[in-house]
Amino acid sequence: MTGKARAVCVIGWPIEHSRSPLIHNYWLSHYGIAGSYRNEAVPPDKFRDFVQSLAARGYAGANVTLPHKEAALQWSQPDERARAVGAANTLWLDGALHSTNTDVEGFSDNLDAAVPGWDRGLGKVVVLGAGGAARGVVYALLERGIAHIVVANRTPSRAEALRERFGARVHPVAWSERNAVLGDAALVVNTTTLGMAGQPALGIDVGRLPGHAIVADLVYVPLETPLLRAAKARGLRTADGLGMLMHQAVRGFLLWFGTKPEVTTELRALLEADLDPSLALPQAKPPE
Ligand code: NAP
Repeated sequence: MTGKARAVCVIGWPIEHSRSPLIHNYWLSHYGIAGSYRNEAVPPDKFRDFVQSLAARGYAGANVTLPHKEAALQWSQPDERARAVGAANTLWLDGALHSTNTDVEGFSDNLDAAVPGWDRGLGKVVVLGAGGAARGVVYALLERGIAHIVVANRTPSRAEALRERFGARVHPVAWSERNAVLGDAALVVNTTTLGMAGQPALGIDVGRLPGHAIVADLVYVPLETPLLRAAKARGLRTADGLGMLMHQAVRGFLLWFGTKPEVTTELRALLEADLDPSLALPQAKPPE
């Protein structure tokens, strides 16, 4: 891409934990693009002002993370996908401030890469959780034509809200039923924070799943969650949260910098080394 170097940021509160700068700065360096990508810590009461002055601050666009994904929808012109999910994570300036939700394709592209053909004739899917990430996952599943999606959530009203938003293919069940619904599940997706370092266990017995089942986890700290470890030990196919994180970043980079970047093993090694420094390889250093 020619012209002025573009600057992009990720907006969150807090933001220090974000791995997005590592991903985008790796791609900028890999493709030889003169641009920059950095963190911006913005509290909720300053968010509107910040996004409405993105251009004045020198930014061509932004990623948006917790707790701003709903507000990002409100203060931009969302595409169909962001509107349907009810949250935006990617903003770009093109006359107006536009937004989309790339967690949707992050989820399905990651499954395409990890378990090719996963959606072909797929039966029942069990989604654990009904928060913001679950909305993106359910939308992605519907987009791929999945006919039966069971949602188990601790707070029943949030699972009910998913059915109201997405229709009769979504079947809410009580959180206490989450193991009872696994017997004929073809895919289980953890969209809760459980299993994350410092959080309680998820309480899922993978022994109840059929042998052909696929297990996906959105959590990526730790890299291998207890759920994924148990699934692998049973010989089930899996897709992890780090894969989704890399795949959701692709379209933002394309929108801002004009090049569709590739999710590579080198990028993955860089992120793995950042998440677990004991895995660092000499060549897997972040670009300056
Ligand atoms: P959220 O809107 O706050 O939702 C959190 C979910 O976890 C809710 O369903 C909540 O249930 C459930 N939960 C929390 N504590 C629980 C407990 N003690 N027992 C049972 N359920 C509990 O958060 P989110 O934005 O959806 O994010 C969820 C997870 O997805 C996070 O770990 C996030 O890092 C991850 N994520 C990963 C990616 C990726 O690219 N890999 C992308 C997006 C999100 P209630 O409704 O009952 O509170």
